[in-house]
Amino acid sequence: MKIPFVDLHSQYLSIKSEIDSAIAEVIAQSAYIRGPRVEEFENAWASTLGVKHCVSCANGTDALYIAMRGLGVMPGDEVITTAHSWISTSETITQAGARVVFCDTDYDTFNIDPKLIESKITSRTVGIIPVHLYGQPCEMDAIMAIAQKHSLWIIEDCAQAHLARYKGRLVGTFGNAATFSFYPGKNLGAYGDAGCLVTGDDQLADWTATFARHGGKGEHVMEGINSRLDGLQAAILLAKLPHLRSWTESRRRVAALYTKSLASLTHIETPFVAPECEHAFHLYVIRTDRRDDLKRQLAEASVSTSLNYPKALPFYPAYAYLNHQEKDFPVAYSNQSRILSLPIYPEISGAMINHVCEKMAESLQRIPTTASVRVEATSALS
Ligand SMILES: *Cc1c(COP(=O)(O)O)cnc(C)c1O
Repeated sequence: MKIPFVDLHSQYLSIKSEIDSAIAEVIAQSAYIRGPRVEEFENAWASTLGVKHCVSCANGTDALYIAMRGLGVMPGDEVITTAHSWISTSETITQAGARVVFCDTDYDTFNIDPKLIESKITSRTVGIIPVHLYGQPCEMDAIMAIAQKHSLWIIEDCAQAHLARYKGRLVGTFGNAATFSFYPGKNLGAYGDAGCLVTGDDQLADWTATFARHGGKGEHVMEGINSRLDGLQAAILLAKLPHLRSWTESRRRVAALYTKSLASLTHIETPFVAPECEHAFHLYVIRTDRRDDLKRQLAEASVSTSLNYPKALPFYPAYAYLNHQEKDFPVAYSNQSRILSLPIYPEISGAMINHVCEKMAESLQRIPTTASVRVEATSALS
């Protein structure tokens, strides 16, 4: 049995007629750039979340950049974000003109550790970008309290967390703005690049929509950028949106099955889910000290896995200029050699999950026990 890491084609087949007719309609109308479907999707996504405004754009990275520009980020400003994310979160801080300030993560959740944020705040700090990594909501009560106390803005990076909830409330509804990616592999994915920001702030919505479309149509009130959602992507997202709830529930069932099946394996830590949270399980990430051997043996058994991400952000060459050391981010650093993402998507079957778990059990038996010495050493670190 071959288990891919993601399987976008089987999802397409499950809703083929809806997708095909949505695409045909856009082509029939030649409504390629913006057009009725784009506005319809913006309204549908805003109402799904219960937020006032959705400003669509070309991708989730642009959404972060546009949101920061809209919040008035200036050269010399500092923005705090997590040491463990996809680089979009930090590269856009630099693009917006500010300085990236990384913060270590909480061991259980993989998310920014609220207990460490205040130690990163200086007179130049203007905002915080928490990332709901892998679909696990951040500790928003603590983060919002810090933002309020220090008058900082919050942009939630929700690229991996569509329909995740913190204390019953959808992520993306806490901050001054929140950004989403609809990259094909995300929980709600287009068939190309797509993204948006959402906000309850009328002025921010207005400014960002103008900025993303060349500073205004007809009258250019400013210089902007070209970051648009195209009509085909909007139509595809609209066709998929009614299924998102059940797809998210399927992801949670897949995760629960993995966690139950892997419980008896030693050397494997399954993901923690905070009791006050509903995880969206964009990724199912285990930790093990036998990561590299396990990944290789699973690949040999035709089970694809992934590393999200191979390194914590401060340790990539892109951030060498910050001169960080491993001890600056001990949790994120220890995770980078131990995390392993298992295949997860709504269409993966119970039989496939069982197969992955069996192959993991077999592999672990084959890996020499010398690795167990390292297990104890690393868990003592954390
Ligand atoms: C995918 C992703 C983004 C960027 O989205 P794109 O649509 O690929 O530009 C930003 N942040 C995180 C955490 C992501 O996973």
